[in-house]
Amino acid sequence: MIFDPNISANAVAHHILVVDDDPASADSLKALLETNGFRVQLAKDGGQAHSAFRMRRPDFVITDLILPGENGYELIDRMKRSDETVPVLVLTAIALDESKALTERLGADGYITKPVAANVLLEEIQTIAQRVWERTHLDQQKEEKRIRFNCRCGKKFKVSHVHRGRTLTCPDCGEPLIVPRYE
Ligand SMILES: [Zn+2]
Repeated sequence: MIFDPNISANAVAHHILVVDDDPASADSLKALLETNGFRVQLAKDGGQAHSAFRMRRPDFVITDLILPGENGYELIDRMKRSDETVPVLVLTAIALDESKALTERLGADGYITKPVAANVLLEEIQTIAQRVWERTHLDQQKEEKRIRFNCRCGKKFKVSHVHRGRTLTCPDCGEPLIVPRYE
């Protein structure tokens, strides 16, 4: 996979799991997201959310906090323990700093208080998806982009891909060598 800093967030967040026990708000959120190109799965409580999660890991999770049975905080905690790379956005009527701080400690990636304008919500999804994707892929991509090759004398080199095709001098034997374009 090639890292592209311009990759759109839709490309990394196709499939969104929405956890909300209120059918009206869940349906309107689903309609909004589908109109904007996302695929949406609904769960009305923690049990449904975790089984949906196990069946197919979503690219993004939007969850309410007040849910029947397991509450949203417990849900975030369990999801992040099972896969910390899945972005989780809290969408809630609870406008308390303590609540927001708690979800952050549990690993949530964003917190929006209802009601929210559609464009604000969509923008936040994009921002979070992009940020989490970069956080989880960037280090790995940097390492993958290093080119390894050997001099004829046996000295091993590991250089950044940006040096492809450049000539360097081996510090051990003094021979000129060209950084290969491909490994
Ligand atoms: Zn050499």
